[in-house]
Amino acid sequence: MKKGELNAQGTSLIFKRLGPRKVFLSGERKFMASFDSSKLSYEYDALIRARSEDDVCETLKLANKYKVPVTPRGTGTSLTGSASPVKGGWVIDVSLMKRIAIKKDKAMAIVQPGAVVSEIQKLSEKEGLFYPPDPSSLEYCTIGGNIACNAGGMRCAKYGVTRDFVLALEGFMPNGEKVSWGGEYKKFATGYNIRDLWIGSEGTLGVVTKAVLRLIPKPDLRWTSVAAFSSEKKALQAVRALLGEGLTPSILEYLDEDSIYCAEEIAGVRLFKKVEGKPLLLIEFDGSKSELRDSKRRLKGWAERWAIAFKGARSEGEAENLWEVRRKCSGAMFALGNAKLNEDIVVPLENQIRFSESLKRLKRKWNLPMPTFGHAADGNLHVNIMFHREIREECVRAEGAVQDLMETVVSLGGTISGEHGIGLAKSPFLRIARNNAEIFAMQAIKKALDPNGILNPGKVFEPYHVWEKNPVAIRLPWDKKPILKR
Ligand SMILES: Cc1cc2nc3c(=O)[nH]c(=O)nc-3n(C[C@H](O)[C@H](O)[C@H](O)COP(=O)(O)OP(=O)(O)OC[C@H]3O[C@@H](n4cnc5c(N)ncnc54)[C@H](O)[C@@H]3O)c2cc1C
Repeated sequence: MKKGELNAQGTSLIFKRLGPRKVFLSGERKFMASFDSSKLSYEYDALIRARSEDDVCETLKLANKYKVPVTPRGTGTSLTGSASPVKGGWVIDVSLMKRIAIKKDKAMAIVQPGAVVSEIQKLSEKEGLFYPPDPSSLEYCTIGGNIACNAGGMRCAKYGVTRDFVLALEGFMPNGEKVSWGGEYKKFATGYNIRDLWIGSEGTLGVVTKAVLRLIPKPDLRWTSVAAFSSEKKALQAVRALLGEGLTPSILEYLDEDSIYCAEEIAGVRLFKKVEGKPLLLIEFDGSKSELRDSKRRLKGWAERWAIAFKGARSEGEAENLWEVRRKCSGAMFALGNAKLNEDIVVPLENQIRFSESLKRLKRKWNLPMPTFGHAADGNLHVNIMFHREIREECVRAEGAVQDLMETVVSLGGTISGEHGIGLAKSPFLRIARNNAEIFAMQAIKKALDPNGILNPGKVFEPYHVWEKNPVAIRLPWDKKPILKR
């Protein structure tokens, strides 16, 4: 039987078994699951809205029998196309499986994959506990998606990424067999650690249906401050000095001069009266009253040595005002171009200054704005290459710029993605960051665990030509509102 016929048989069977409440063969809901935040939309056969583990199991078993590709999906906030069903088949949306149970005595959260990250945080905090990972999309994205992408966020500066808070995973192998990697305990040394192989595997090795998350005591207090520097070089030197002094900010965000231009000149947010156009560090400390007292004292000493201006928030309201600069600069970038390549590269701290110089060279060479901000403590920066999609020649330059950027970060000992993953958008660059032996090892694992190539095919390894596909013109709830002038 031909593949198309086999797939069609499988689709009619899954519809019969799970019914029209769970399986959608057409309509708006199905269309909206044909792309993620990258807006690269693909035709596919059926959307399955799983409500239970049995639904996931049934879907994968049938998919294997009828050789249907299956793309797992949370909320679709991925920025790389990792949740777009590029090879058609079925999308399995697990966002309805969203139970959360907080176990205070064990400091754990037991969650289903569709639990929204901000909900996990709220429920943990009610019990005096804390789940630190905080991707900016946290009001929308699911824990299943965060695990699949090993999501990061601003608080990685002190606490680390999603992986650092996952104690155990439960779910289904690509062939529909149930597995669990760990349990409601904090230690295991019982065979291979496949839990960590699943984390960051972008839905290509298994479908997560339950996770045990590690929680920590909720910090009593937070304190936000901002420092301006005479140059980008000085700001980046100051980052290393701060960390070298043993200070441990929960957040340490860098905004380069171009980002500041967007915030100040376009969005009209100005934090210092007498200093303009200068790079900033936004700094947050958390902890007990005495810890914060100590951090404040030491930070003020550091600021006197390094910064040209410094301001600490005296209230929650003032702290919110300081964060405005970070929030608004993203929207204001759209005054520089109506399309953005939002990269999330990593460069080791010792090479950040060389990277900042290289970035200036890239901007001149490709003649495109590239405002850059991000997580200074771990060297994970968002380089935003701005261009106009309707101007073909600008697209060609943006394509050249991103390739050049990736080669530059790898030559500086860094890597091409720190938190968004590879998906479709970064697949052409995987070979810059990984050698043949490394890619062979990864593909061998994929073949061993998913011999029929069912789960999320076409992602990570197969170079994808993002420029040949027009994104759908649709506004998503989390899209930043463009700020074109103040
Ligand atoms: C405005 C905005 C801000 C963002 N900020 C950040 C940020 O600060 N840090 C950061 O790291 N990312 C950020 N992201 C990217 C995105 O939110 C994350 O990658 C997030 O982890 C995706 O979660 P999701 O539920 O939307 O997953 P989806 O987009 O639905 O899926 C993402 C990937 O996970 C797989 N997947 C989903 N659920 C499962 C499951 N149960 N089992 C197996 N695989 C699964 C999918 O197949 C896909 O490969 C941002 C995105 C937006 C739009």
